[in-house]
This record gives sequence, C-alpha cells and structure tokens, in this order.
Amino acid sequence: MPIHQITRFGLVNAYLVEEDDGLTLIDTALPRSEKAILAAAERLGRPIVRIVLTHAHMDHIGALDALHAALPDAEVLISARDARLLAKDMTLDPGEEKGKLRGGYPGAETRPTRTIAPGERVGSLEVLAAPGHTPGQLAFLDTRDRTLYCADAYATVGGVATTAKRYWRFPLPASATWHHPTALETATALRELGPARLAPGHGKVVEAPGAAMVKAIARGSA
Ligand SMILES: [Zn+2]
Repeated sequence: MPIHQITRFGLVNAYLVEEDDGLTLIDTALPRSEKAILAAAERLGRPIVRIVLTHAHMDHIGALDALHAALPDAEVLISARDARLLAKDMTLDPGEEKGKLRGGYPGAETRPTRTIAPGERVGSLEVLAAPGHTPGQLAFLDTRDRTLYCADAYATVGGVATTAKRYWRFPLPASATWHHPTALETATALRELGPARLAPGHGKVVEAPGAAMVKAIARGSA
C-alpha cells in the first residue's frame, strides 16, 4: 500500500489510509493542521470517512474540532481510556498512579462517535494496545501490508527510539510519557509483531524496521 503521511513543522505526523469506503485519518496533528489534511485527502480524490486518534495529546488531537466541523459525518474513534483525557477528565484509574500524566492534554469539544478497543478492526487496521506514553494509547497494524502506525510508542526523529527513556536527539515524546516501563513493554510487544514498516507520530516512515526497533528497545531498557 502506498503510505500517505502528512507532516507538520517537520515533526508531527498524521496519516491517511485508503479503504474501500474512503479514507481513514490517523491523528489530526497540531491545531490549524486541518487545511493541510483536507488538501491531502483532496489530492487522493477520496473523502475522509473516519478519524482515528491514537491518543489524546495536543499534537495528535489539535485539528480534531476543525476537522469534525468540516467533516461532520466522519466517525471519530479513540480508546475509552483516552476518550476521558479528550474530555479533559484527568483522573487516574486505580493502578495508574505509578505514572504521571505528562505533556499537553488540551481536550476537545468533539466527542468520539464510539470508542474502540484492542482486537477490533477499523477497516483494514487491527487495533493494538499501546499503553505507556498515555494510559490508553492505541497503535494500528495494516493487515494488508503490515505497516505499523505506532503512534508515540516509537519516534524516528534522529533514528528509531522508544519513548521509554529520553533520547538525546529527540527527548520530547519520552518527556511526555505517562509510565516508562509500560512504554518499554509496549515497544517490545509491537516489535514482536514483525512490522514491515514503521509509521510513527514523529519522524519519517521507516521500512524494514525490525533491527532498529530491537536496538531502540535495548537502549530504552539500559
Ligand atoms: Zn504523545
């Protein structure tokens, strides 16, 4: 499958995934990214029929309200856990006090049309649990070509890195991470899926990422 990455300010990604019924948008990048995202869909000549959010951080939900206004019929999907963060409910569940909610959670006016859970399918995408960066982060595996939309479980700015430990080349995602040991477990579980391609929230798309992911996990646990 061709990959359709929309990058804002060289650092923040959203993706368009082609499906039979239209396009799935993965994440909405920063506020005021709606024009770039809508223009990318227009270039593909297909409507965005659903918006999937990997997690509720500002740089992933930023243009959600503007896109929902422009695309009122598009479904809006997020995990039940991060839906609470999207609604600015910052309470921690039992067991979550081991970490601290870090990074920007501005919330949004838009409510999900429904929540999604690991094991479900969204079109061709398999929904995967990817907690750690946020408590309810999700990743998505395209079952057609094993592209892994890994959200902020990995970033590839300055090289492939987990968000389990601050990476000096790009410390931001690790600094905004709720619980580093959980992020490391997620990075390991995602690696075990054997993705053919890694499509992160931050950084370029990496083909055949297996060895780089293994190295990143080793560095994240050191
Ligand atoms: Zn994030």
